[in-house]
Amino acid sequence: DAIRPQPGIMDIALYEGGKAHVAGVSNVVKLSSNENPFGPSDKAKDAFAKSVHQLHRYPSTDHANLRAAIAEVHGLDAARVICGVGSDEIITFLCQAYAGPGDEVLYTEHGFLMYKISALAVGATPVEVKERERTTDVDALLAACTERTKLVFIANPNNPTGTMISAGEVARLARGLPPQAILVLDGAYAEYVDGFDAGLSLVEASGNVVMTRTFSKIYGLGGLRIGWGYGPKAIIDVLNRIRGPFNLSNTQLETAEAAVRDQDFVTRCRSENARLRHWLAEALAAVGVPSDTSMANFVLARFASAEEAEACDTFLQQQGLIVRRVAGYKLPHCLRITVGDEASCRRVAHAIGQFKGVK
Ligand code: PMP
Repeated sequence: DAIRPQPGIMDIALYEGGKAHVAGVSNVVKLSSNENPFGPSDKAKDAFAKSVHQLHRYPSTDHANLRAAIAEVHGLDAARVICGVGSDEIITFLCQAYAGPGDEVLYTEHGFLMYKISALAVGATPVEVKERERTTDVDALLAACTERTKLVFIANPNNPTGTMISAGEVARLARGLPPQAILVLDGAYAEYVDGFDAGLSLVEASGNVVMTRTFSKIYGLGGLRIGWGYGPKAIIDVLNRIRGPFNLSNTQLETAEAAVRDQDFVTRCRSENARLRHWLAEALAAVGVPSDTSMANFVLARFASAEEAEACDTFLQQQGLIVRRVAGYKLPHCLRITVGDEASCRRVAHAIGQFKGVK
């Protein structure tokens, strides 16, 4: 009894990971974690294989080559890029550095679970702010700010809703925050939006905005765990003080560098995703399952009730199709379906049609 964790830690629910198997079913397709169905680019795979020659060496502590590549591709200042173990780690650094007991960390009601986990892990108070029609509500976020607000997280496009808000709305949010608060723009799905700068120009123009990005989604490297952040020099300097010097391995650094330099691959994945996402949303609508316009690599399918969503989920699993129940995100009547390759999209649309027909 004398050994106790810090306050807040026991309020964290254990993360329910996406499953990859269904007992007794072969030919399983996993459409539950927003992974790129095409995997990573060949250039990234080559770099991964070559990194075997560096296994006995400690990795670079300053990530200079990867930061330079990211900066070159996106037109950024490499000194203001920080790399981490997925964008999850950048979110963790931000909470560790800027929030503690008595401080408030804001995010939207259907926002990504890591914001709450990271806030509770540092003893801060997580504050969930209502959305409007499953979309980030800037007025509600501004109204929820207090003198204790330290961090405001929004994902744009958002997970699990797939919706996004305009650059003007994001800028209005940044401008309206109290002086001690940082706006964190989570751009995990930014590459799926054609011609979108993901808020990088806002980061450049403001002293209170940080962006996070990931190699887990369009780059197809979720298994390797690499993300990055971009922000004002003063904030990135703070985050680098708590970043472990060897947080990324040679393999992660070299693979990510090759991946970010292969923008042709990114462009191909973006257009294939847009085509199939459109097809999937239309196919689901045609069998009576609507969704909001998604700008990401998944569709949030809405059912009449939580019971119907659960029954459909069970039916899909029996067919070897794993999608995501989003009850944890307080959307129990929805299923989040990753846009897979063409065959998977057809399979899941057909199965949902069967489900609606056989009911
Ligand atoms: N932000 C959002 C909105 C996400 O959906 C995810 C992945 N599910 C992440 C961040 C974290 O991604 P990673 O740690 O793999 O970079």
